Amino acid sequence: MGPHPQTWLKTTPSGLYCEPGDFYIDPLRPVPRAVISHAHADHARPGHAAVLATQGTLAIMRTRMGAERAGGATQALAYNQPIKLGDVTVTLHPAGHVLGSAQIAMEYQGSRAVISGDYKRQPDPTCAPFEVVPCDVFVTEATFGLPVFQHPNPADEIAKLLASVALFPDRTHVIGCYALGKCQRLIGELRLAGYDAPIYLHGAHMPVCETYRVEGVALGELRAATVADKAALKGAIVLAPPSAIADRWARRMEDPVICMASGWMRIRQRAKAGGIELPLIISDHADWNALLTTIREVGAPEIWVTHGGEEALIHAASRLQIRARALRLIGYGDEDAQ
Ligand SMILES: [Zn+2]
Ligand SMILES: [Zn+2]
Repeated sequence: MGPHPQTWLKTTPSGLYCEPGDFYIDPLRPVPRAVISHAHADHARPGHAAVLATQGTLAIMRTRMGAERAGGATQALAYNQPIKLGDVTVTLHPAGHVLGSAQIAMEYQGSRAVISGDYKRQPDPTCAPFEVVPCDVFVTEATFGLPVFQHPNPADEIAKLLASVALFPDRTHVIGCYALGKCQRLIGELRLAGYDAPIYLHGAHMPVCETYRVEGVALGELRAATVADKAALKGAIVLAPPSAIADRWARRMEDPVICMASGWMRIRQRAKAGGIELPLIISDHADWNALLTTIREVGAPEIWVTHGGEEALIHAASRLQIRARALRLIGYGDEDAQ
């Protein structure tokens, strides 16, 4: 192994900086050169002079922030295509999190670090599956880094939803979900389950769905949901941002069944407190077992842990003889909780 990654990956106020490559990873402030793992707002921020990311991530960034703010100069890099930045070879590998999401592998003088961004191991019909990349240091998220978090099979959660739709044909099922990733995955899972009726969307969910479609992800027929048409929405499935579930938008539907799709729905009190009648435990993050499986599979003797349950995962890693430490980067949040 070459120089330890801690000698060439530095924590700075702008985020993680790769010195021999002269670029930042998912920087928190505008920088000259950024490599971006995926388009969620806590990882992809506006105003960098140059941005390297997958085509999918760049397309979503343009949709969400406008072309000018998505990066002065942008460069799309396909998965598994090594590129040299300074003295560092950078390769993007699928992270299985949302469309375009990538793990960023960096090799410098024979040592390799992989920053996984956010990731999951469950199959997702709307993005490429996570790839295991052996490395010397693996940087992992720990959003659901506690043993209580065990995500069920999403098909079972979708079956629950469809059973409720069949049981209450005159009610409108309104599902709170985030605009990037969760929304499209729910649609994809519903289509996989054979649900081919139009799916209705709150206006905030339209643009990213359109980008997915342009990027080749088939979502079936989608229609705008407006409260004015609430009679037509009887029996329908409507996807809306969690904020619309919290406020009156969703409650103005006709006799709505309020649902929420999130890994946090594992916590019953959380669902109850949010007035969620039908919680769906569907997450785009690795659950506890998937975190452990992944740190074993990548075979890294050392892991650095970002946003989430650092302590529990660090403890579990040490029992597997893996060195582990928290990588405290201010500003990474969990999009599920924003
Ligand atoms: Zn994310
Ligand atoms: Zn994140």
